[in-house]
Amino acid sequence: MAKKLLMGNEAIALGAIHAGVNVATGYPGTPSTEILETIARNNPGDIYVEWSTNEKVALEVAAGAAYSGARAIVTMKQVGLNVASDPLMSLAYIGVKGGLVIVVADDPGPISSQTEQDTRHFARFANLPVFDPSTPEEAFEMIQSAFELSERLQLPVFVRPTTRICHSCSTLEIPETRKKREVEGFIKDPRWVIFPSLSYKMHIRLEKLQDEIGDIFSNMSYNTITGEGKKGIVASGIAYSYVSEALSSISGKVKLFKVGTPYPFPKKLALNFIQGLEEVLVIEELDPIIEESMLEISAQNYGRPVILGKKTGHLPFAGEYNYQLVSSAINRFLGIEENDNENNKGILIDAPVLPVRPPTLCAGCPHRASFYAVKIALKNQKAIFTGDIGCYTLGNAKPLEMIDTCLCMGAGITVAQGLKRAQPDTKCIAFIGDSTFFHSGIPGIINAVYNNTDITVIVLDNGTTAMTGHQPHPGVGITMMNTFSEKVSIYDILIASGVRHVSKVNPFDHKKAVEAVKEAVNFTGPSAVIFEAPCIALVKPSNRQQVLNDRCILCKKCIREIGCPAISINNGKVSIEPSICCGCTLCAQICPAGAIRSVDE
Ligand code: SF4
Ligand code: SF4
Repeated sequence: MAKKLLMGNEAIALGAIHAGVNVATGYPGTPSTEILETIARNNPGDIYVEWSTNEKVALEVAAGAAYSGARAIVTMKQVGLNVASDPLMSLAYIGVKGGLVIVVADDPGPISSQTEQDTRHFARFANLPVFDPSTPEEAFEMIQSAFELSERLQLPVFVRPTTRICHSCSTLEIPETRKKREVEGFIKDPRWVIFPSLSYKMHIRLEKLQDEIGDIFSNMSYNTITGEGKKGIVASGIAYSYVSEALSSISGKVKLFKVGTPYPFPKKLALNFIQGLEEVLVIEELDPIIEESMLEISAQNYGRPVILGKKTGHLPFAGEYNYQLVSSAINRFLGIEENDNENNKGILIDAPVLPVRPPTLCAGCPHRASFYAVKIALKNQKAIFTGDIGCYTLGNAKPLEMIDTCLCMGAGITVAQGLKRAQPDTKCIAFIGDSTFFHSGIPGIINAVYNNTDITVIVLDNGTTAMTGHQPHPGVGITMMNTFSEKVSIYDILIASGVRHVSKVNPFDHKKAVEAVKEAVNFTGPSAVIFEAPCIALVKPSNRQQVLNDRCILCKKCIREIGCPAISINNGKVSIEPSICCGCTLCAQICPAGAIRSVDE
């Protein structure tokens, strides 16, 4: 055994390695990203690890591996599961041979996502079991249980950590040895082909399994009943950790039901729990999944006990929970005066208020130069700018204000087409990043070509998946296994898809960049500009700039128009902070007085 301080995502990864995982796939997305990265970093040498082009692809690759008897894990964030939902639903019928664990990290808050959606709905929708860890330690254990359950039932199994589990740290005892798995290989069998007659049979099997899985869960140590009294609390996930902490300072009697496996619901244990209870408070983040199961059990028991939670307004539906919120809800439920107990001992009341940092593109970010070039090129023209998911969503902030819509991965290109159809006199410009282009941008490009929709696509190619921490993608030429591969050319894909006007430009060459956008926008039919310049986090800063105050006419164009965080006004003078400036020279190129020069000039 080795003691290690691990983040929840690292615990999940090491749990998978310890369980003998053979294949690991995923698409980067906060809060799930570090799981796959940790598997890659700790790869004993016999695990295949890949960043797939999107979550659907990742699940299908993992499913293929599991068909052959391998243990496979696939990781993504909650919105990624929407993309993977098509293979997911069929896979629930077809099943697997080797263990297939789908780790989907939910993001209550949401802290870095477009939605707060709850993956437990998908588990219920697909009739698949789900584990819900309440600590990193439990996440480590659950991954192994999930593989075992998956193989026992021949079904994919979910593990659904939330942000606070993914990113909090704990000291864990990690066994030195791991299970070694020999892969039997794919055996041809009609069971792998989803014909309608087979899917009907498999649906019946799946429905019948639900009670069986609920019973298995009722006997698992992840679900426990402790305490006593006439009032009860049910909690799961990170909310359980907050509840445990709050209850540790309360002397009153209360019965606690910890639910580590929310679906299929461990009904037998729940029936045991409600014995003698009058009222139950359900505490869970996101949607009232457990609350609904408890309501069903209560209804079957003639409405006893009374179930309180989100539906009764005792807890909020939206937003991330925390210790204080949970503790206050418990105090109200138990009739305890807030000041009569030491419940607030875990709160750092005197902690200083952190300064608010508005989200902004980094100093020297090539996207700033790209947005600015498009803005200048389309000055005085009626135009709509559709955005996508990535760092460049920040292009909507002042002073650039270049993102008018943002829906989901790949939708910038398709939303632009809808807008163009609805208002043909308007120029529609879609922005998309390189990784997102490969993820789900290509079908939109093909649609624009097929329907000859007159839009311009601006591909912001910074050579990485920057927003989630610089993961490689098909355009980079390096795999997650650190092997070199063929670089997939965005330019060639655009040409092959039938886009007749494609140009490639360095966005920091401002004049050429503006010219390229003008040409593309004036072209009739789908056109594209690829702005190529590496993410500044991947290159060493050089050619730092400074303001020559004797030349500066204080027009503030450099501040008003590009919004680089390195430029500010100090004591009435424009200055560039040398520790932030990356030397992109955009400010120097637009300064009308030639007042910005390289430090070395
Ligand atoms: S050169 Fe100008 S625009 Fe570029 S990072 Fe430095 S201050 Fe910002
Ligand atoms: S754009 Fe040039 S002249 Fe205008 S404020 Fe900035 S440094 Fe001074």
